[in-house]
Amino acid sequence: MCRHLARVGPTPVTLASLVTEPEHSLLVQSYAPSDMRGGGTVNADGFGVGWLGPADWHLYRRDDPMWTDASFLDLARGVETTALMAAVRSATVGMPVSTAACAPFRADGLLFSHNGVVRGWPDSMADLAATLPALDLLTLDAATDSALLWALLRARLAAGKDLADAVAGVVADTLVAAPGSRLNLLVGDGEQVVATAVDHALSYRTHADGAVTVASEPLDPDPTWIPVPDGSLLVARHGGVHDPPAVTVSPLETRR
Ligand code: GLN
Repeated sequence: MCRHLARVGPTPVTLASLVTEPEHSLLVQSYAPSDMRGGGTVNADGFGVGWLGPADWHLYRRDDPMWTDASFLDLARGVETTALMAAVRSATVGMPVSTAACAPFRADGLLFSHNGVVRGWPDSMADLAATLPALDLLTLDAATDSALLWALLRARLAAGKDLADAVAGVVADTLVAAPGSRLNLLVGDGEQVVATAVDHALSYRTHADGAVTVASEPLDPDPTWIPVPDGSLLVARHGGVHDPPAVTVSPLETRR
């Protein structure tokens, strides 16, 4: 299963400080992940990094393993941002390997990533997909379960749902349509990160400067990493030096 991470903070850090430099960085998790729970062995079907620039999110995505991209490894040392999301992909069997299928997906000021699989794809999701406008289906980022979940989430947001409620609603509907699905979702708007842990690994930690990092696997052995219990919704907002970050972890059922 893919690995992903997101960070929000009050002060900029380099992409490399999260994605490539830590002892168990996302780069390491692309070839030596430690908690895949039976979902594949490596994450070599592409990668993506999205970071907040002066006006909007920027995306760098490739359908090659991260470790083969020397230019990305160089760029990551030179780009600074307060908010980023990154993912390394292990394509689910039957789904295309392409740059467009690599998270993060970007739209409407948000980034999105999905670590997991929708069981019974695509048949199991036909009824939920039919609730979307035809144009949303014609413009899916890719013919993957993740891209459909992203479209379902945006439809809920367009209908006026709050971000955390929209994420919880998509997870609940998908688990009804496709029981046993693995649904670790990650959404960021630059100030907050909303994440779910449904049958996959997730941890988070706060930093002294008010930043919060959420990641499939802890990026280093620091004891302040906190595992997120299965079946949870995490909402994290960054703080400042004198203002600790606000992180809540609640059972998903209560957020429907
Ligand atoms: N099912 C998604 C895809 O194929 C996510 C894969 C994963 O988490 N390994 O892109």
